Amino acid sequence: MGIRAAVLFACLVCLAALPEAAHAQWHQRADAIMGTRIYVELWDTNAVDGEASIDAVMAEMRRIDNLMSHYKPESELSQINAHAAERPVQVDPELFDLIKLSTHYSQITDGAFDITYASVGYLYNYPNHTKPSEAQIKAALPAVNWRNLQFDEAHHTVRFEHAGMRIDLGGIGKGYAVDRGIDILKKRGIQHAVVTAGGDSRIMGDHMGRPWLVAIRHPDDETKVVTRIPLSDAAMSTSGDYERFFDENGVRYHHIIDPHTGHSASKVRSATIIGPTATQTDGMSKTAFVLGPEKALEIINRMPEYDAVFVAPDGRVLYSNGLRPPEPRPAGAAESAAPGGATPDVGNPNQRVASPDAVAPKSAPK
Ligand code: ADP
Ligand code: MG
Repeated sequence: MGIRAAVLFACLVCLAALPEAAHAQWHQRADAIMGTRIYVELWDTNAVDGEASIDAVMAEMRRIDNLMSHYKPESELSQINAHAAERPVQVDPELFDLIKLSTHYSQITDGAFDITYASVGYLYNYPNHTKPSEAQIKAALPAVNWRNLQFDEAHHTVRFEHAGMRIDLGGIGKGYAVDRGIDILKKRGIQHAVVTAGGDSRIMGDHMGRPWLVAIRHPDDETKVVTRIPLSDAAMSTSGDYERFFDENGVRYHHIIDPHTGHSASKVRSATIIGPTATQTDGMSKTAFVLGPEKALEIINRMPEYDAVFVAPDGRVLYSNGLRPPEPRPAGAAESAAPGGATPDVGNPNQRVASPDAVAPKSAPK
């Protein structure tokens, strides 16, 4: 083939490829599953495949919810809560493994993360503004202790060694579901995607060669951003005292409970953990509420694969060693970008994942 013919051939090949490339695009969808907002966004060259991939992730979220929800009386998790104090309850190996894994996070967080918190946690009802009395807390608290979960590996059974125990996977189930969603997308050949469930997100790949920017909201104002973190191939979980709460006589009663006291844990207003998988970051994002930001930073800084951003009750923002706080703005420099506007909402509003094109030019003052 002469040079001209080769060039012509190459052009024809390019032209033939064009229609497919022209259809490559981001596909996104939000749905309400697991009592929260699920969001999936992915890049695919084929619109039908892209939508089918989103369907597959949503179906997986529903499957996990049916297995692990403590709100659904027919779920396997509810069967554990109903019977495990009387006898070992056999469960699906997947649920068994996640319950067992949750005790690993109890171990590395000095018991700040403890799925048996539910033994007292069930006495709170945030939408109804009800909370237990001190006497009720005192009576329920002895049942809170992850060490009283007994596992039988051979038979996949779980047993409670204390009467009155309950478990609830609300603090790790969404992160787990996000990871399952990402696995499904990987198996389908997707290379760029975001999956979010409530405060838990995981990003696969990047956004057209640049990281995604994930905004952490201000605890008291969802339109204000505390900071933005560039992320690719990483997970991020944010927990906040503004998600499910009520205020009474100047006290905030919210959904993250200190397993040692049975009260809402209030040593930070919000905690964001960044790490390899959403199961990991979800398992770690409650720690600072219970142990306080300094102790939580000590733990995070010992584990090189994690980073953290905490908002303290006095408004201070604390970063782990791997993250540099933004440089102070030089006098006269332009104000950094106001949030909202171009940034699409992802998950519940404590995190927003935005394409870098949407925010980078505004947030990088020269
Ligand atoms: P999201 O549901 O948005 O992912 P979080 O990751 O902050 O929110 O998890 C909060 C949930 O964790 C609570 O609603 C409750 O189900 C559960 N939880 C609360 N306190 C604890 C605790 N000390 N240890 C483990 N799980 C907890
Ligand atoms: Mg979470």
